[in-house]
Amino acid sequence: MTGRVFDIQRFSVHDGPGIRTTVFLKGCPLNCAWCHNPEGIRAGPELSFDREKCLACGECVRACPMAAHSLQTDGKGLAHVLDRGRCEVRGECVSVCCSDSLEIVGRSLSVEEVMREVMADRVFYRQAGGGLTISGGEPLMQAEFTAALLVAAKKEGLHCCVETSGFGGWEALCRMLPLTDLFLFDWKVTEPVEHERHTGQSNTIIARNLRELYARGARIRLQCPLIPGINDNEGHYEGIEALLESMPNLDGISILPYHPLGTAKLERLGRPPAFAASTTSAIRQSARFLAGRLARRGFRVVGTEGDRQEGGQRRAEDGVPRREGIKSDF
Ligand code: SF4
Ligand code: SF4
Repeated sequence: MTGRVFDIQRFSVHDGPGIRTTVFLKGCPLNCAWCHNPEGIRAGPELSFDREKCLACGECVRACPMAAHSLQTDGKGLAHVLDRGRCEVRGECVSVCCSDSLEIVGRSLSVEEVMREVMADRVFYRQAGGGLTISGGEPLMQAEFTAALLVAAKKEGLHCCVETSGFGGWEALCRMLPLTDLFLFDWKVTEPVEHERHTGQSNTIIARNLRELYARGARIRLQCPLIPGINDNEGHYEGIEALLESMPNLDGISILPYHPLGTAKLERLGRPPAFAASTTSAIRQSARFLAGRLARRGFRVVGTEGDRQEGGQRRAEDGVPRREGIKSDF
């Protein structure tokens, strides 16, 4: 079985407890304006072109059978121009580019190939209590492959996290449930219409899946991205609090302030930026404010902004008791 993978990140310390290898799968049914992994949204492979690295050597012009590359003169000299309408993402240009300006994002890998890379760091997982995290994109978009990876990782005795937007079929999630030690479950915008406006989908299915997972005893950590002008408002903060009240046995909550990481990636993929915030200091401050507010109410906050504190040995430092909440529908 093969899946479409766009990155495998080793020594990751932000995607669950301990030191982990994070496997990023391609394809996402959402289209969040602030997405910091926009290369994970489209299901198929894409050609990434980094203008900053390009030496205008012309090798790709000669190699491309589709004539998608050309060199043209601008005010400063020769400049590389990529006609994406002609590109079929075949990759001849990538193999001749000496500056690594060109890259195909998204490759087909078998479960065995991924596991070979994941298991290279088994010694670190043992020492740091880490393991495998499957992220994206959205793992539920490649449910078969995700389940097969989890089965293989479990055979090796690895701790497994699945990072999900929660948008997908319940059957797929349900299949992952016995194989997943911790779900990193996004909660982006509380109000369904606003959620749809900013991500392309309502959160009704997401809320239902979250509730079902919780009811079946899954270990879940909420991840709440905080985006300036989109969800840094009292209504959303209260929505988060109501959610936490209704699920007192959650593993915890992480507040993730916006980072403009996706903007440069979008440029390299030839797509216009969908969202831009010039500074991030104000949103980091809002994240600290929200994290403090939640912690004071007795909710377990697991790391915020640049100083996220996932990891077995650091959890004890939280020192925040779990709160017995009242039941409520959200
Ligand atoms: S759910 Fe995640 S990967 Fe999908 S668009 Fe939103 S931020 Fe990007
Ligand atoms: S081969 Fe690479 S460095 Fe040369 S022109 Fe093409 S993109 Fe630029």
